[in-house]
Amino acid sequence: MSTTTESQSESVSTRKTPLLSLTLKEFEERMLSQLGEPPYRARQVWEWIFSKGVLEFEKMNNVPMPLRERLAKEYTVLSSTIVRKQIATDRTGKILVEFADGQQVESVLIREEERLTACISTQVGCPIGCVFCASGRDGLARSLEDFEMVEQMLHLRSILQGSRQRITHLVVMGMGEPMLNLKNLTRALLVVNDPKCFNIGQRHVTVSTVGFPRQIEELAGMDHQWNLAISLHAPTDELREKLIPTSKGIAPLLEAARKYYEATKREVTFEYTLLKGFNDSPFQARDLAKLLRGFPCLVNLIPMNVVEGSGYEPPSPKVSDTFAELLKKSGVRVTLRKEKGAEIAAACGQLRMQAKKPAPRKPPGDVKIKFKKRT
Ligand code: SAH
Repeated sequence: MSTTTESQSESVSTRKTPLLSLTLKEFEERMLSQLGEPPYRARQVWEWIFSKGVLEFEKMNNVPMPLRERLAKEYTVLSSTIVRKQIATDRTGKILVEFADGQQVESVLIREEERLTACISTQVGCPIGCVFCASGRDGLARSLEDFEMVEQMLHLRSILQGSRQRITHLVVMGMGEPMLNLKNLTRALLVVNDPKCFNIGQRHVTVSTVGFPRQIEELAGMDHQWNLAISLHAPTDELREKLIPTSKGIAPLLEAARKYYEATKREVTFEYTLLKGFNDSPFQARDLAKLLRGFPCLVNLIPMNVVEGSGYEPPSPKVSDTFAELLKKSGVRVTLRKEKGAEIAAACGQLRMQAKKPAPRKPPGDVKIKFKKRT
């Protein structure tokens, strides 16, 4: 499954091969050619991992003991561990995942009515540098391997262990810019979709991007049904460049979004983080409406989640409501995020930021968190 060579994808600390760097088909082939066992043994291992949530070879008791021992010597199911958790009593929350090279990313589990949505990261840090975002503060450390994204899903699922709940949706809205790690991301998404793995339908998956037209068109050409969300944040090129220093023009982005819609028939979402005094005025709402009028899309307004030291803050609820109303009146479909889950997701990057502070690191364990209520 990995796009890297085998030696690169070996776990640094253990020198074992991360099992999920292989597809099931590749594992079946190895089972026969390298381990001298029938391919169905690979399917048994897969079933333990994905259907039963068992991540240790020694517990896979329908697999012969000598094979279990050999697998444990040569492979590791997870190349990462959870080093911090903030889990609420309803089993939603945020985890900090550390990979074999010590790099860390955040992953989140969000509950919205009947949905349980996972939010995963695609890169360690981010090269984009949106002025209000915690993830890109220190730039990009590296892109994640496909199996490192799948492992985040397994870690999130482990939070639900013992309950009957399952993850129903996935949003790729954690740290990093998905379009700059597209190959690994799409391989990971196929595992997410696979009925033998997470069995999450493509229409239940949303990829959020700051917008790279060429890559959006590439994604559109893949003949998949993933939802696309584009982080717009401004109605004009000039303002957008201030908020997203690496951004290029809006027009080519809208063109790519249109092509994505035409290819997939999936309505595109435009995310718009509301920043007090920067992009929240009635004039800007009208400009945005003019820009998007007639486009088959939804605008998702996200009042900014405060990032310590960023100098930006959310508008008052009244200003946010007015902005939403103006869009609605102009015929643009709009949602205004108010729910707690989205709030912890939007704050992605902050747990890692806290963990990077010189304060002594807490051992893994549950930390109860209180959610602020927006009115
Ligand atoms: N690089 C991707 C994924 C980023 S996170 C992208 O830009 O889309 C998903 C969304 O959360 C993006 O729209 C991002 O701009 C937004 N976001 C990041 N930090 C935020 C904050 N502090 N408050 C509100 N939204 C934020």
